[in-house]
Amino acid sequence: MIVCKFGGTSIGDADAIRRAADIVRSRLSQGPIAVVSALGGSTNVLIDIAEQAARGQLIGAMSHVESVRDRHLVVAGNVLPGPEGDEIALELSALCDEIGALAEALSTLGHLTPRSLDTVASFGERMSSLLIAAAFNAMGVPAQLVDARRVMITDAQHTRAEPLTDAIAEAARVHLAPLVRDQKVPVMGGYIGATAGGITTTLGRGGSDYSASLVGAALQAEAIEIWTDVDGMMTADPRVVPSAKTIETVAFEEASELASFGAKVLHPFTIAPAVRLGIPVRVLNSRRPEGTGTSITFDAPRRPVTAIAGKSNVTLVKVRSPRMLLTEGFLRELFAIFERHKMSVDVVSTSEVSVSVTVDDAARLEETIGDLRQLGDVAVEQNRGIVALVGAALSESSGAMSRALACIGAARLHMLSLSATGINLTMVVDGDEVDALLRRLHAEFFEGKR
Ligand code: ADP
Ligand code: ASP
Ligand code: MG
Repeated sequence: MIVCKFGGTSIGDADAIRRAADIVRSRLSQGPIAVVSALGGSTNVLIDIAEQAARGQLIGAMSHVESVRDRHLVVAGNVLPGPEGDEIALELSALCDEIGALAEALSTLGHLTPRSLDTVASFGERMSSLLIAAAFNAMGVPAQLVDARRVMITDAQHTRAEPLTDAIAEAARVHLAPLVRDQKVPVMGGYIGATAGGITTTLGRGGSDYSASLVGAALQAEAIEIWTDVDGMMTADPRVVPSAKTIETVAFEEASELASFGAKVLHPFTIAPAVRLGIPVRVLNSRRPEGTGTSITFDAPRRPVTAIAGKSNVTLVKVRSPRMLLTEGFLRELFAIFERHKMSVDVVSTSEVSVSVTVDDAARLEETIGDLRQLGDVAVEQNRGIVALVGAALSESSGAMSRALACIGAARLHMLSLSATGINLTMVVDGDEVDALLRRLHAEFFEGKR
């Protein structure tokens, strides 16, 4: 059994869907399960619809609903001509009517809860999986639609629900494995799930990769294939560094660090379920399926620098307290506050009297800061960014380390941290310095310009 996950751009239009069908067809002997994202860009539009409606801008929201409808109907018409297409078009249209009804309800309420946001956002994958399953069948791939919400059982933390792995394993055995045994290709949406009571949830933006690896782990798949719009995991984001190169093999641990620090090609949580069972994750280009892509496994060469990742919109929180000096339990109290507010912390550095941490999600920061103030003075610095240099043998190479530090140049450094595993040198700089620093580091380590 293998899992083939297709991202939004890999199913964005009729040609892309045909390529995806060809890929799945070429893997029929391996027992593929297809996990699909929403058609590229639809999740953003759905979130806009929910937000606009809740602000009372119902006309704008409804015009977006119509654009979602048109887009899906056009693609359906292209991949499914004939009566079958008409039937799917009716089903898609009924789903769009539901989105419209939800938008009306939200505009009456004037309020958007994470739970309603999840419900609206889930329509992207609900529609794409319906459409892709039908298209695959029309293209000779024996597909069977499976509602992801029957498989991806999660807790109720809406917009970033935690998967319940035992329940998922059980559901996958019931709803997916028998289909594969019957030589059918289950097609399910990524990103979305439901609580055990059936309330729709989502795993967080970009979560379809995570869905794929959860399904792969649940069924102990032989491989998890992430089909996307680039040739694999690259030495840097090719949108920032056009000369970035594809990496043949990356260690699980490296891929996990890169994903957490901005390599959007993989959702940061994708690696954990796969690494537990040693299931290789492959990142492949759906526009160039003949390419070898990137294999993420245990046995990758140990390099000082494998790749560089970066992200902006990072918030730096500094807590300064004379109490910290020689006080046991200070850090425990500090992290308990972050835990209580479910804020995940990326980079940490401490001195005798202060602690600095970075957080991605500034949404609930206000409440967290209120609590942190009980520990000491709190300073918040927004618009920071992170650049992470990742390589399994990084800490063993003093040469690589000093070359990296020399690239900092005039960028203002706010934090510098070598991960405990020694594979990630993280630099916190001004958000608008991220791309330039990334390019300098890439030139230094991958472009032979020393
Ligand atoms: P999908 O819709 O297939 O999930 P995403 O947009 O989520 O695609 O991820 C693919 C994008 O990730 C690429 O287009 C690329 O710009 C970006 N990216 C960022 N860092 C990297 C990297 N190190 N290697 C490859 N792609 C990267
Ligand atoms: N459609 C979802 C998103 O845009 C999930 C994904 O594409 O992975 O965030
Ligand atoms: Mg993605």
